[in-house]
Amino acid sequence: MHWLDIDKEHVWHPYNSLPSSTKLLGVKRTNKTSIFLEDDKELLDAMSSWWSAIHGYNNPRLNDALKKQVDIMPHIMFGGIAHEKASILSKLLVDLTGLNSVFLCDSGSVSVEVALKTAIQYQEAKGLKKYKFIACEHSYHGDTLAAMSVCDPQNSMHSIYGTYLPKHIFTKAPQIGFNKDCSEAITALEQTFKNHHEEVAGFIIEPVVQGAGGMRVYNPEFLVKARELCDKYDVLFIADEIATGFGHTGKMFAVEHANIKPDIMTVGKGLTGGYMTMAAMITSKKVSDTISNSELGILMHGPTFMGNPLACSVAIESINLLLETPWEERVLNIEKIFSEELEKAKDLEIVASIRNIGAIGVIELNDGSYAQYIQDYCVEHGVWVRPFGKLIYSIVSYTIDHNDLRKIINTMIDAIKTIKK
Ligand SMILES: *Cc1c(COP(=O)(O)O)cnc(C)c1O
Repeated sequence: MHWLDIDKEHVWHPYNSLPSSTKLLGVKRTNKTSIFLEDDKELLDAMSSWWSAIHGYNNPRLNDALKKQVDIMPHIMFGGIAHEKASILSKLLVDLTGLNSVFLCDSGSVSVEVALKTAIQYQEAKGLKKYKFIACEHSYHGDTLAAMSVCDPQNSMHSIYGTYLPKHIFTKAPQIGFNKDCSEAITALEQTFKNHHEEVAGFIIEPVVQGAGGMRVYNPEFLVKARELCDKYDVLFIADEIATGFGHTGKMFAVEHANIKPDIMTVGKGLTGGYMTMAAMITSKKVSDTISNSELGILMHGPTFMGNPLACSVAIESINLLLETPWEERVLNIEKIFSEELEKAKDLEIVASIRNIGAIGVIELNDGSYAQYIQDYCVEHGVWVRPFGKLIYSIVSYTIDHNDLRKIINTMIDAIKTIKK
């Protein structure tokens, strides 16, 4: 039996049926910003494996970091034990974020779970019974149940899970556009805080770009106002930077566009340069002190693979590599190319809008039924892209060759041009 046939019969893929109702590409290997299929066909990677491969694939420095660590110590439990790689990584995260206390965990969704638990424990430590969260419409914060409960209810099909999911408070998302007026959403946010603050532990948001819930770039002014409201009502500000973090929007973290500091930040995806599953929840000293000085005195979480040394070692190398390369200039150049090339799609009949920021480019169609067609066209023409619904988007590695980037964008546009209605 060919391994792809085993896959088809036995292996779940993200948001898929079993056997798979859509075609799955067999991938043999990767190199830099290319993916090689079973038959050696080369695809340019327009997805950077969902925001994670920020340096491209098979970077020699990252490969070496992992190889070295595997001989020293592949894993060790973190309960009652400390190791150097976790300390070095945590200090890097503290220095980059200006926050203080780092919880290293397995995946983005888990870091959001930990963030929500931390916010509730913080309020509990202050003698407050605040168990609700405010989140935005169109938000995406992960697939586990608590993380899902703060995702847009329609997009994540809350209805399927009935009474199992806690009901949180959703507020209007700022309208699309980095420079667009967001006063309507701000007014709604003020009202939401006013009405609900007594029961609300935290406000969770993806800063500047709402990712999987719609690839919506918005005005950082919204974050400034949200920070003010969080301070006013003692609600913790949780910045979910799992997608936006490590440079994707042109700043190291997207909150920097608003010049604000969150109380809690979650990072993941690009943290290990796309090598290992790892995420982190990082909080201010105020938050960790409040929990640690409470009657209970401990943060109630501790996964088996917390602080995994292999993941730590490659995350350290990835962050150092980022800091040693001109990543800001690279992302800015990518942003310029997206702006130039996407312009060609703007006036196509089926295109509703285009938008881009940093290493992210988006074409929104006014019809959601062409995603598979566009993916097939792009693969045939040597580009790996995975549109969802109306959104054809690309997030590229910062090391991508500029001609390759232009080819990616133009192939996406050519695919749209060949759609026959
Ligand atoms: C991807 C993502 C998550 C979930 O991360 P996983 O590693 O897939 O669990 C959470 N929040 C945001 C903003 C994300 O983009």
